[in-house]
Amino acid sequence: MGFFDKIKRAFTGEQPTEEVSNEQELQTQEKYDKGLEKTRKTFGERMNELFANFRSVDEDFFEELEETLIGADVGFETSMKIADALRQEVKLKNVKKRAEVQNAIIEKLVNLYEEEGLNENNDLNIQEDGLTVILFVGVNGVGKTTSIGKMAHQYKEQGKKVLLAAADTFRAGAIDQLVVWGERAGVEVVTKAPGSDPASVVFDAIQKAKEEQADILLVDTAGRLQNKVNLMKELDKIKRVIQREIPDAPHEVLLVLDATTGQNAMVQAKQFRETTDVTGLVLTKLDGTAKGGIVLAIRNELHLPVKLVGLGEGIDDLEPFSPTDFVVGLFSGLLE
Ligand code: GDP
Ligand code: GDP
Ligand code: MG
Repeated sequence: MGFFDKIKRAFTGEQPTEEVSNEQELQTQEKYDKGLEKTRKTFGERMNELFANFRSVDEDFFEELEETLIGADVGFETSMKIADALRQEVKLKNVKKRAEVQNAIIEKLVNLYEEEGLNENNDLNIQEDGLTVILFVGVNGVGKTTSIGKMAHQYKEQGKKVLLAAADTFRAGAIDQLVVWGERAGVEVVTKAPGSDPASVVFDAIQKAKEEQADILLVDTAGRLQNKVNLMKELDKIKRVIQREIPDAPHEVLLVLDATTGQNAMVQAKQFRETTDVTGLVLTKLDGTAKGGIVLAIRNELHLPVKLVGLGEGIDDLEPFSPTDFVVGLFSGLLE
């Protein structure tokens, strides 16, 4: 189903026809719809309020729109960009009616996604043959371990041999937590005693992955951003050990960000980008925030692809990021 069809369906509440009743696609959209419930409530309520007070498209209206977008964590720059694009459109097409303005806003949001996403690769770099190594980085509590557990489950289900490396040896309980996820997903976890050199855990894990011809190795790390120099050294060392064994690895370095922290997630992303070569983002807890607009801000301001989103605490609540499903989830049920 095309992007605009989906948007239109979200707006009109039309039921999908046979051509779109692909089971998988519907399930994914349902997850997004549910995961974005909170965001939609505030975003939707604010938008509805904005349009309830709508009299004409004047400067007051544009300012209120900017406030509404910023309030949903779309971010200052991005909000201004959308409002400016709308100002032009309104002038160009002499838009006056409420419904026309609503449609124009959606169109601008969609365009923004498409423009920013042009040369982006949202797919994970998974090797056809041989081992794929994925490193997870991010500060404590953002959802690294949980996302690894979910991803392990997904690849296991696809019939791949998955191995986990418990290289967060720093935080008490971190190793056990990964072991529990390993049990849930039915995959093995390589561990060492708490306090061990994280790079040595990764070394052991790579040896094991090679011996057992594993397909995917997911590496959990400790995120001590308060000590940036040490963190950088630690991540560098882990990478060095990986590259010595597998020259083109790690195939992905995924920065995990907690969507509920809003603009703070943005600050973390900027700091991590200075620390290590991030290849993509995992945005967790979208279900727990009313400010899902952060996705728009991140995409527009950081130019890092959001590759996966966390839509809940369960083992199945990790989805590849789909801009279409996201925007539709944001707007579905809104403005009948
Ligand atoms: P880590 O310190 O980065 O490894 O973070 P954890 O994986 O331990 O997760 C911290 C908390 O966030 C846990 O309570 C998780 O259940 C929760 N969490 C992780 N991802 C999600 C998500 O997508 N949605 C929700 N609601 N909670 C999540
Ligand atoms: P350096 O210790 O900072 O010079 O970094 P290296 O790249 O030499 O090693 C990083 C870590 O990986 C070390 O602290 C070891 O724990 C581990 N390591 C490296 N090579 C080996 C090896 O041949 N065997 C084992 N068991 N561990 C290794
Ligand atoms: Mg953890």
